[in-house]
Amino acid sequence: MNSERVATIPDIHGHAKGEHRVYAAERPIAYTPRMLFLWFYHAARRGWPRRLMVSDHINFTTAKDAEAVRTVRRALDLARQGDVIRTAQTADVYVTHASVVADALGNGMRFSIGIEADNDPRTPAGAASIVETMRPDSIIRSVHFIPIEQRETGDGWMWPFDNPEFAKLYNAIGVEKTWALYISTLLKEIEAPCDVVGHFYVPAKFGHWPCPRRLEQYEDQVLEVCRARRLALELNTRVLYDETLVHQTQAYVDANRRLLTKAKARGVKIAVGSDAHRPDDQGQGFEIALALLDECGIDEVDFPTERQSEPVG
Ligand SMILES: [Zn+2]
Ligand SMILES: [Zn+2]
Repeated sequence: MNSERVATIPDIHGHAKGEHRVYAAERPIAYTPRMLFLWFYHAARRGWPRRLMVSDHINFTTAKDAEAVRTVRRALDLARQGDVIRTAQTADVYVTHASVVADALGNGMRFSIGIEADNDPRTPAGAASIVETMRPDSIIRSVHFIPIEQRETGDGWMWPFDNPEFAKLYNAIGVEKTWALYISTLLKEIEAPCDVVGHFYVPAKFGHWPCPRRLEQYEDQVLEVCRARRLALELNTRVLYDETLVHQTQAYVDANRRLLTKAKARGVKIAVGSDAHRPDDQGQGFEIALALLDECGIDEVDFPTERQSEPVG
């Protein structure tokens, strides 16, 4: 990490519950206070990102999550007061963990707990009310599934289009149709309670870009909703540090430069997310994000705790 300014960019997107499993093996994973606290500990020990929100997938929600979130918020309060013994007891961590987090909070670092609410058909029935009880600091809305026709039954099937297991289906569906379905699904999804529109360019993850004119129309449509409803738009950096996606970097940077420029012109707020699925990935790709923000003249990005913009540097 080169620049002190990079450390000040809030990271709103990270998954303490970890990496995806293969599609058929995905299942709910319960939060523990320890799991959440240690997610923040890694940033605290490193000293950045100085603002960090955890935001796990709604399909992983379990009945235990709301209580774990309540407990870790209590532990963070205790750490802020410098009571490291009770912090450690509350979060079920060592005192050394608690004191690293307490020092970080004393130095102005902030941690919050949100959710990535997507349209995963495997989301448990009670998830929405559990999330409500969790009182997420921010809701990232994203789309990982689009409805396609299934030939045998004629029913719609929810295609996990950004999952490498199912990437071959781009050939059958076609890139233009995939994007059209993605955008109509996204526009519908963000009618639900939402603070941040997550990873807009996700259908291009494996290099599937629609024709430039159509893409610009899609960008304008989504930005218009963001402007009207005061939603932030996420600059997601996962493509910028994921080694399997590195061939996408230039196209992704160019697209985001255009999107940020348009967002700035419309007064749409930007949030930045690493989409980390392990602690080492928190804040990854943020040097490039900072260069993009600077290029586009954006000097404030969104962070939910204080429900206001945070100056960069
Ligand atoms: Zn996502
Ligand atoms: Zn994510």
